[in-house]
Amino acid sequence: MEQSYDVVVVGHGAAGLAAALAAAEAAGSAPARVLVVERASQAARGGNTRWSPSYMRLEAPDRLAPRFEEDMMETSGGRSDPAYVARLAADATPVLAWLQQHGITFDRPPNYFLTAAAPRIQPVGAGAAIVDVLARAASAAGVEFAYDTDAQSLELAPGGGVAALHVRTAGTDRRIATNAIVFACGGFESDPVAMREHLGEGAESIRPITAGTAYNTGGGIRMARAAGAQTAGDWNGVHVEPVDPRSDRPEAVVLTYPYGIVVDRNGRRFFDEGNGRVDETWETLARTIHFETPGRIAYAIFDSSLAEIPGFERAICTDREPIRAGTIRELAAGLEIDADGLAQTVAAYNAAVPADASAFEATRVDGLASNGLVPPKSNWARRIARAPFLAYPIVCAICYTFGGVKTDAEARVIGAGGPIPGLFAAGEITGQFYGKAPGGTSVLRALVFGRIAGKHALDCRTNG
Ligand SMILES: Cc1cc2nc3c(=O)[nH]c(=O)nc-3n(C[C@H](O)[C@H](O)[C@H](O)COP(=O)(O)OP(=O)(O)OC[C@H]3O[C@@H](n4cnc5c(N)ncnc54)[C@H](O)[C@@H]3O)c2cc1C
Repeated sequence: MEQSYDVVVVGHGAAGLAAALAAAEAAGSAPARVLVVERASQAARGGNTRWSPSYMRLEAPDRLAPRFEEDMMETSGGRSDPAYVARLAADATPVLAWLQQHGITFDRPPNYFLTAAAPRIQPVGAGAAIVDVLARAASAAGVEFAYDTDAQSLELAPGGGVAALHVRTAGTDRRIATNAIVFACGGFESDPVAMREHLGEGAESIRPITAGTAYNTGGGIRMARAAGAQTAGDWNGVHVEPVDPRSDRPEAVVLTYPYGIVVDRNGRRFFDEGNGRVDETWETLARTIHFETPGRIAYAIFDSSLAEIPGFERAICTDREPIRAGTIRELAAGLEIDADGLAQTVAAYNAAVPADASAFEATRVDGLASNGLVPPKSNWARRIARAPFLAYPIVCAICYTFGGVKTDAEARVIGAGGPIPGLFAAGEITGQFYGKAPGGTSVLRALVFGRIAGKHALDCRTNG
């Protein structure tokens, strides 16, 4: 028998759960039928959100970081929609208050960036707490869940509004009638074909950074486009991070590289390791490793002075030990990279950095720069001279893509003639980021626009 719901939400991450809970709560005394469709099993639910530390760009749950809107607009080179950014800023603290009402608490712990970035708060229990708490609250509010269920296509009514979602569960197809759908099913980072199409050859082999990332294969973007949705965001843009390939941990980043050098397997430097704070350089490093180094692998090299930097362990999230050696040549042998190349690189680097390193300051952009080195090292340029030497291999891993469907500040999906009736989208599926990721805003925007989408989707019950 065909099922029918007031609101169908696709995706069980921050955006989808915020939408489902908001729709159920907005129904008040006339309970709504709300369904969350999720392709992962119940045990594997949560998408990227579940694995994300979920840092948020706020000083406190009731106070945004300074220059929140200005920084977001600047990071996008002025290309993000200012109305969307303004709505995000306006609704951020009310959304966090809503999470607090549901039992989520926030903290401002030291994070893996040693160089000061914009202030970040974090939900206690990180993204997994968001998934668990919101799923529990949604379930208590009457929301139903269909796990192991893949959303496949969207059906429009003759008048152009949403009529149904077609899904597949364990090989069986079914039609779910509804006037309102919220797509909250992530980007296309784990679709090799789309990755290659939009980012170029080789992009299909960038590894997903967590188990949850692998579920996001762009299905929502394809369905929305087939229904006439416009696109937005930077289709060549991705958030990628440098990780230790030996580790199975989610987000096994090595973020101490500004205090050493990074070389390819010929032992050559190819990147200015000190060209700004880590959160300004990590995407470029990861991307350069994948697209421009032989074998798509690099090595972060340090000497024993790394261990003197207070809290340096925080910036290394791999569970694997570094390769250690008493000399640079032995280190190269341990890494199985060109020993002559590495020895020459370290010698040239040491000759080009200031003899007096007293200006070195790990936690700020310190201005200690190399002289005449190519590529330069613009900050934290100290000699690599004191044994034992150590190294971590690093490769590129992907978190999410920037290209997606076009939405407005009401989370409505925009088609050629304006909003598509009954179709909403929130989170990573929506195209708003350009150039670099504005750190600490992804989970926040998933929650803010998920909640907006859920409320409006419920309105389709009376309007639809
Ligand atoms: C390692 C890592 C670290 C991060 N750190 C931060 C951070 O500190 N701060 C921050 O703001 N952001 C961070 N992010 C980004 C942030 O976590 C995500 O942008 C955010 O969680 C996205 O939420 P979402 O609900 O849009 O998508 P997701 O949480 O990915 O949820 C999408 C869901 O849709 C499901 N799905 C996909 N296709 C279908 C389909 N066809 N049918 C049914 N279901 C489908 C997926 O299985 C998944 O459960 C990080 C991401 C990663 C991976």
